[in-house]
Amino acid sequence: MEQFQSVVKALQEGQSPESSDVVKVYQHSLEKQDNVSLIMVKAAQTKYLIAVGDGPLFDALNGEVVQGGKVCPLTHENSQVLNQFFDYTKPQAFGTDIATMGLGDRLGLASPGHIETVRDRKVKPILAQQSIRELTLLNRTMTDILDAATFAVFQEGYKDGYGADADHIKLEEDIKYALDLGFSFITLDCSEQIRNGIEEMSVAEVSKEFASLPAERKDYYSTHYVNKSFDADGLNITFDEASLHKNVLVYGEAIDFMEHVYNAYISKAEKAIDFEISIDETETVTAPEAHFFVAEELRRRGVTVQSLAPRFCGEFQKGIDYIGDITQFEKELQEHAEIAKYFGYKLSIHSGSDKFSVFPIIGKYTEGLLHIKTAGTNWLEAVRVIAQVNPDLYRRMHVYAEEHFEETLKYYHVTPDLDSVAPLNETKDEELPSYMDHDASRQLFHVTYGILLTAQDEAGNDLFNTEFFTTLINHEDAYRESLVKHIGRHVDLLGL
Ligand SMILES: [Zn+2]
Repeated sequence: MEQFQSVVKALQEGQSPESSDVVKVYQHSLEKQDNVSLIMVKAAQTKYLIAVGDGPLFDALNGEVVQGGKVCPLTHENSQVLNQFFDYTKPQAFGTDIATMGLGDRLGLASPGHIETVRDRKVKPILAQQSIRELTLLNRTMTDILDAATFAVFQEGYKDGYGADADHIKLEEDIKYALDLGFSFITLDCSEQIRNGIEEMSVAEVSKEFASLPAERKDYYSTHYVNKSFDADGLNITFDEASLHKNVLVYGEAIDFMEHVYNAYISKAEKAIDFEISIDETETVTAPEAHFFVAEELRRRGVTVQSLAPRFCGEFQKGIDYIGDITQFEKELQEHAEIAKYFGYKLSIHSGSDKFSVFPIIGKYTEGLLHIKTAGTNWLEAVRVIAQVNPDLYRRMHVYAEEHFEETLKYYHVTPDLDSVAPLNETKDEELPSYMDHDASRQLFHVTYGILLTAQDEAGNDLFNTEFFTTLINHEDAYRESLVKHIGRHVDLLGL
């Protein structure tokens, strides 16, 4: 703890502490409240808060007293103290006034780079964003990701607000849990309630099933839609019996679930919540007419959403550019964007990273009424840094990822041509980072993150985790720079 004496002394003298060989000081984090000065530092690979002064903030922090200062580890308890004393460290909702970008940080190390990327842009960061799937694969909890975001905004002195998204939530108990923890954004995944297989049924089969619904239900839908035409700010949407029946069978149960969740949790939450509906992770591409149907039902039932994620035509595979017919995508995206504008919510783009060929189209038609989610691409930038600064570690991870790739296919839909990946033993160290410019090797790493970061040898020691994090924390500026460049390119092309 002696290494912190000069920081404590500087704070006691009312000066800004300087970094030294042993202690890095995060200058932007310096806060003075009442009689307390507080700052974040790093020694070896560990970060701490250092407080001097007296009063409730000083007393609330947990730490070791050093020469009248207090050195506090970045624990959950201390994260809650920051939340209690500094409002900007708590996640908040943004509604529909400004574009938002989901910046999932699987490592708990990416947020400083993300903050630097979006500062002074026309977009707010959703710094914490993790699906239950990602949390499970990484042995992390919702609390861990909130704490990481809290400490990141404090470290960066970022006071413009950020959100926290409980992503792809399917279970009511998880929604309740996330809201209790303070999440500001709920993405309701309705894929369990969306019926697959309707496309394959004949018109007669569909109408027979519709006929088996309660009379009151059939009436509710038929009188509103059959042979009716709707004008969504110039976009004409019409339904006949066949198209209505199909949409009711595909989305009816999902819409009932959205309504229930809204009434039971979202509208009763203690603070404003950004409520997103996700109908993207299904086999069914969301036709603009289907999107309209879902949105119109939400409106009829008094359910307010801030964003909705349809499944677009073509493929939004993880970590690589758009695959599909760009002309058709542009036509449908324009219609989806018009529908979203008509109902007053954001169009949400999932698996939104690296879709460089369609970003200008997305930017043009959504005009800022946009939420876009990225996550794995931020981990790939971390892998790029590893390839640059620790080639030996990169090589071992690469081999392991290839050996274990098959296991990931039960979680992720990707189709990389692994034969196209350059053989590792023929690749020089200085060429290793370019694996992160190659689609198949990007996807190889994109989906094996959980396997890599939890891999153990027979004695139960981790194979990569400790060295990976140590390397990255030692090169946090390189990681920040690579994120600013990579995510900055997204933001530029989206016009935000
Ligand atoms: Zn999704």
